[in-house]
Amino acid sequence: MTSSLSDVHSPLPEPATGEGSRSPTPDLAAAFDPDRFRDGAVDIVGRLTTYLADRSVRGLDLLDPAVLLKAARELMTPERQRIADFDADRVSRIVDLYTETGIPVYSPGYMGRQFSGVVPLAGLIDLVGSVVNQPSSFYEAGQLPSVAERLMAEELNRFIGWDRDRFAMVTTSGGSLANLTALLAARNRAFPQIWTRGTGGMPGPPAIAVSEEAHYSVTRAAGVLGIGERQIIRLPVDRAGRIRPDLAGPALAEALRRGLRPFCLVASAGTTSTGAFDPLEELAAVADRYGLWLHVDGAHGASLLLSDLHRDRLRGIERADSLTWDAHKMLFMPAPCTLLFYRDGSAARDAFRQRASYVFDEEPDVYSAYDSAAKNLECTKRPMIMPLWTVWSVYGPALFAQKIDRLCATARQAYRMLAAEPDFAVAHEPESNIVCFRYVPEGLEPGSAHRLQLEIRNRIRGGGRFFISKVDLDGTAALRVVVMNHLIDADHLAMLIDEIRDIGQRVLRAGAATRNDQRNGSHS
Ligand SMILES: *Cc1c(COP(=O)(O)O)cnc(C)c1O
Repeated sequence: MTSSLSDVHSPLPEPATGEGSRSPTPDLAAAFDPDRFRDGAVDIVGRLTTYLADRSVRGLDLLDPAVLLKAARELMTPERQRIADFDADRVSRIVDLYTETGIPVYSPGYMGRQFSGVVPLAGLIDLVGSVVNQPSSFYEAGQLPSVAERLMAEELNRFIGWDRDRFAMVTTSGGSLANLTALLAARNRAFPQIWTRGTGGMPGPPAIAVSEEAHYSVTRAAGVLGIGERQIIRLPVDRAGRIRPDLAGPALAEALRRGLRPFCLVASAGTTSTGAFDPLEELAAVADRYGLWLHVDGAHGASLLLSDLHRDRLRGIERADSLTWDAHKMLFMPAPCTLLFYRDGSAARDAFRQRASYVFDEEPDVYSAYDSAAKNLECTKRPMIMPLWTVWSVYGPALFAQKIDRLCATARQAYRMLAAEPDFAVAHEPESNIVCFRYVPEGLEPGSAHRLQLEIRNRIRGGGRFFISKVDLDGTAALRVVVMNHLIDADHLAMLIDEIRDIGQRVLRAGAATRNDQRNGSHS
């Protein structure tokens, strides 16, 4: 028992005689044994190869967490005292449980979310990154990742089109963090005194203007920055979910009248719900007029810049101040891999105005010029650029462009097929690879469309053949397909439509039966 502070701070106990100089125990050494690594790698790569080769049409097998918890617990060694004997079978079973319980992202049945099966080479490079463990943020800890960030920034900026000598890019762990970081940079640019003094004593509260359709990470970032929900100016959108530039000006003027001090306008290049692209050119003009920083949340859709066919959706991007770009979405990388671009690179450092002698050098040198720590929130950060840079280096940009074109074409095909079905209603024309729609057969009782879509979505998930998502549009649930797999073709879409109709009909019949039972007073 500890009885006084001096005990807490007592020096480390002396090692048993000679222990420090003795060799590590064989068990300790064995856990780091390269041969054991190779044997494990061969087994695991074999299992992953089988996993990748499975092209069957499958959805998510959603387990009761209590069941999975039990299965997982059984895989944990009971050994607590010694280093447990290596059990190759235990590792294999963990890998199998891992692969079997995930959303099958390589299956054509998976059409539900914005992440995807990765270019397999990216996974191998991620493995390298995990073994050599070169966390980035500082050049000395991650030399190649730091250089690769520079190269990848130059490559992608060709598609954005900003001044090569002025722009900057930093990787962040996800688009949410990129949005937060960009808002911070924007706020510090507009109100440099806040970093030291806080918001106290300001003549009016800082405010941001965002689309009604903005991703929740944007308003969450505003919360983190202390902006406060009342200082979030909601910009109205049109039927397709795009900010209406003609209504943005009046909304801002009204905010100014209320004494707010807007500093940033956030546009979406691909909204999460429907993949709608805000009109960047027109919004840049609004931002100019009101002296606002224009941040483009392109987490989902910035990748369309790589496509000759779809680049035009981001017309005006050259006038933005910052851009969030998730490579773990439409560049098919392992998550997370996000790139945050600034048109004016000096703004990147404005986000964080700090000194820390243990990491930041007072005198910048050729090495620290490659550090990203002054520009990102993370200190230790995955070298997330390496899978992207390697795939880009090996295959070139056409791999991405081709896949993006194919996904958008498939979404358009889904739109055409759904529009041709009399019992389906498509909610919008796809602007990228997302299509939302509803199953609304003739005679559907008014007001029951919402529940029907939710029920269909859950039963489809339960059925295990397809994985789609749902989203509320104008207050009514819709089914949402995100095409992330280039293997999805018209046959798969037809299968999905049939399955939705089948399930929908069954739900409606069951509902009618229940109502009849209730009317007849039956309680069975
Ligand atoms: C996915 C998404 C985000 C959040 O990005 P994460 O990488 O999931 O943190 C932000 N904005 C939009 C438009 C998105 O689609």
